Amino acid sequence: MNQTTRRDFLRVAALGVAALAAPPWARAAAKKDRPNIIYIMSDDHAAQAISAYNDKLIQTPSMDRLAKEGLRCDRIFATNSICTPSRATILTGQYSHINGVPCFNPLDPKRPTVAKYLQAAGYYTLMIGKWHLGSDPVGFDDWEVLPGQGVYHDPLFYTAEGEKKYTGYVTEITTDLALQRLEKRPKDKPFFAMVHHKAPHRPWEPCDRLAKIWRARTIPEPATLWDDYATRTDAIRECKQKVFDDMTRTDLKLEPPADLKGPQRRQWMGHKPTEVEIEVNGQKQTLTGLELKKWKYQRYMQDYLACCAAVDESVGQILAWLDKTGLAENTLIIYTSDQGFFLGEHGLYDKRFMYEDSARMPFLVRWPRGIKPGTTSAALGINCDFAPTFLDLAGEKIPADMQGRSLVPLFAGGKPDGWRSSIYYRYYHDPGDHNTAAHYGVRTDTHKLIYFWRRNQWECFDLVKDPQELKNVYNDPAEQATVAKLKAELYRLKKELGDEADRFANNEDQPKETSYVQPGQKKKKGAAQ
Ligand code: CA
Repeated sequence: MNQTTRRDFLRVAALGVAALAAPPWARAAAKKDRPNIIYIMSDDHAAQAISAYNDKLIQTPSMDRLAKEGLRCDRIFATNSICTPSRATILTGQYSHINGVPCFNPLDPKRPTVAKYLQAAGYYTLMIGKWHLGSDPVGFDDWEVLPGQGVYHDPLFYTAEGEKKYTGYVTEITTDLALQRLEKRPKDKPFFAMVHHKAPHRPWEPCDRLAKIWRARTIPEPATLWDDYATRTDAIRECKQKVFDDMTRTDLKLEPPADLKGPQRRQWMGHKPTEVEIEVNGQKQTLTGLELKKWKYQRYMQDYLACCAAVDESVGQILAWLDKTGLAENTLIIYTSDQGFFLGEHGLYDKRFMYEDSARMPFLVRWPRGIKPGTTSAALGINCDFAPTFLDLAGEKIPADMQGRSLVPLFAGGKPDGWRSSIYYRYYHDPGDHNTAAHYGVRTDTHKLIYFWRRNQWECFDLVKDPQELKNVYNDPAEQATVAKLKAELYRLKKELGDEADRFANNEDQPKETSYVQPGQKKKKGAAQ
């Protein structure tokens, strides 16, 4: 879709079919009838744990409804696959080396963000849930956020007035808070609501109701769970995000001896066990070796998927609210996650790597006025594109310093003419919590090239022949022309995106990681619900 066609498409979508022969007043009317935007983002929810993408692990009927009634994008990627950097990129439309958030450091509240732009454009702006950007949110008319990572049970939230403690499960509370605010919103404005779930982030603590259901299930193992890393670089061998070796007793929900307290208890919980005692039908059983490995995968996935199931219920609750209020027609609702996650693929958990399971974001969009049901697109998108998309939908100018482009042309499905054919990625947090090697790379429609710059090691994958990324062909003589082309594209992108100076490449040049505590806020107690 070219510029003019896209503008027409948006105008027609905004006004309905009657405006096809749009008279001069159309623009003003379009402005008046701008869509509401509900942006639901969970934390670490891999696309393969949504049945619209893969029905082998879990059924997610509400998320599937978005795909069925709207658009499913299959190739949207985080440009730096960890929580804080992805969130900073989503708000600023910029890569980490430009917005200054390469790892877990705060986003400068003075920076322009899409929330500030939409607020200035007359939207009511709302932020509820996990923020994790090291400061109070700015650019929002109303907000209530979890401090840092937040907790799953009986969470504390920060508000502009101080702290509030709630009783209950964080996923349900986040949705309830969002809907309460939306009910009370000013009705003379369109709204932009960011609803950010903590789930299904580690340590994957489900609510009791869903934990019970999922603990009784056996989850199929992914084909690459037992990957031997033949042909791969040291990065994947040396990382400490392996399901079999790096899960702690906290991750595995093992009960500490009752007499352990304080630091000793914490030490016990942080241990990575090579032997686990479980009870089966009242009988104690000790698991080791292969049996323990399989059990660890099951325990991890049962809890992770139970967390996802609660998020799906919450999406359903928001869809029901849109139906009830009659707002569904002109509300664009998105479900995504700040990045993907390894669900045992390559024997891993967590994210960080540029590999598909980790970097790919689920991206489901419903907007009855502008998207036909059952639309799909495999065009390459990145999280830098989200802010430009929202501004485009609001009829606002996209600032020149945003590095993404509007995804609105993808709403028609497929790959629009002239669409990008490659994307750039860069991860910095090395060694971080999982000894994940820093790297940058390029992904095209068919290939991926990764450079682990501190090790001077490369990986290259043919994503058509090898979609699971098992065979590194970087040193394959038959692939040298392809590797050279990919390298040229990588350096072209680095130049285009202003990353030639390799800002933050050394740890000592990176901004400090800090945890945020609201300064001088009075505690507001007794506000539980
Ligand atoms: Ca995350």
